[in-house]
Amino acid sequence: MMYVDDVMLVIGVGLLAAALLTVRSIIRLLSASSTLRRQWIGLSALIVFFIVGYVGLVFLWEERALVANELVALILMVAGAFTLVVTRLSFVTTNDVVRIAKLERDAIEDPLTGTYNRRYLDSKLIEEVSRATRLNLPLSAVLIDLDHFKHVNDTYGHDVGDLVLRHVCSLIIASVRPNDTVFRYGGEEFVVIAPNCDIDAAATLGERMRLRIAESVLSLPGGQDLAVTASLGISSLSLTGSSEAMLRAADQALYTAKRGGRNRTCAAPADISETPAA
Ligand code: GH3
Ligand code: MG
Ligand code: MG
Repeated sequence: MMYVDDVMLVIGVGLLAAALLTVRSIIRLLSASSTLRRQWIGLSALIVFFIVGYVGLVFLWEERALVANELVALILMVAGAFTLVVTRLSFVTTNDVVRIAKLERDAIEDPLTGTYNRRYLDSKLIEEVSRATRLNLPLSAVLIDLDHFKHVNDTYGHDVGDLVLRHVCSLIIASVRPNDTVFRYGGEEFVVIAPNCDIDAAATLGERMRLRIAESVLSLPGGQDLAVTASLGISSLSLTGSSEAMLRAADQALYTAKRGGRNRTCAAPADISETPAA
């Protein structure tokens, strides 16, 4: 007849067997020569020991022959070792996960401004264009280029230039919606990719950013106040048909804004698709 303690031991064996399967899957993922693999193999040996120990206990208790004090003590001791090994392995795994997450972030982040870099723009555009096409939703790009930024560097130095870039970037981020993504497109150029946003909404967004930049005054460490402006070019996927053409059209619109006197927002013309690529 089975007692509650026997049932609990049998359940324990079942759980350990399930854990053993997971450990085997982990071992298969690790390279043959790695220390981590050897440690996981050690852990699976401990699990096998537990299974054998538990089954032994069931038999001993079934017989009601003797209370296997030594076996219980041994199982508890090995439980300590087991817990230590699991903790160590979890620590190594957590370290690796944190390190990989940082590497992944570094690979797509611009170190100066903390926005995404141009490399990530390419993969994000593939994702957004495919989503916009599949769901028949608008997608727009807003290209932002600081005006006469070379003059800022020449007058105040490169460090102040960096400060201005970070400041403008924070203004851009504060102006966009949660679904928009900001990228550093070049030295003093940024691009916002705005999903679910047609050309008119993108022009409104662009004007909001332009005004915010123009109205903001940055207090420099030396006590001086510095104001900068930006020119913006807007384009939409519906006007151009591809992400490359959308960015090209935004660049042309930006060029128009620069030629028009800077500190302004220009949208790509509605008949852009008839304009030959530069
Ligand atoms: P425009 O109004 O026509 O855009 O003129 P501009 O001076 O902004 O444009 P230009 O392309 O002549 O100069 C861009 C400057 O941006 C030159 C370069 O030194 C500066 N720049 C690029 N990247 C960085 C950076 O990371 N930090 C700083 N401080 N300056 C940068
Ligand atoms: Mg530029
Ligand atoms: Mg510029």
